[in-house]
Amino acid sequence: MTARPKATLADRLQAKIDARVETARSDPCPRCGADTLVARTPDRVAAVDVRADPTPLDLAAEILARLDGRLTWCLATSELTGDRIRWRDRWHIAGGRCTHTVIADHRCRPRPIQETLL
Ligand SMILES: [Zn+2]
Ligand SMILES: [Zn+2]
Repeated sequence: MTARPKATLADRLQAKIDARVETARSDPCPRCGADTLVARTPDRVAAVDVRADPTPLDLAAEILARLDGRLTWCLATSELTGDRIRWRDRWHIAGGRCTHTVIADHRCRPRPIQETLL
């Protein structure tokens, strides 16, 4: 059996940085100022930066959001790792075992033109 190489300092730093960007946190939308949740999905292959509305959706609201072309996400809460935003694929939903809070991509609310010019 071969010994695993020890994680280098750079590896450990990178892991810390990853943990930080993957923890969901409140951040106002830079465009419309709405309260949003931002996080990178903890997916090594195709991590996605998500900005989502923090309002939890029930099934009907989720269907409406998806019909509207917004992606929906699982908000997985954990005391150990902090809150994470996770991909919500149809197998996950169909399994019926998902107990996560469901949130949808943020979409900026329309604002008056005058406000935009300020
Ligand atoms: Zn889930
Ligand atoms: Zn916005």
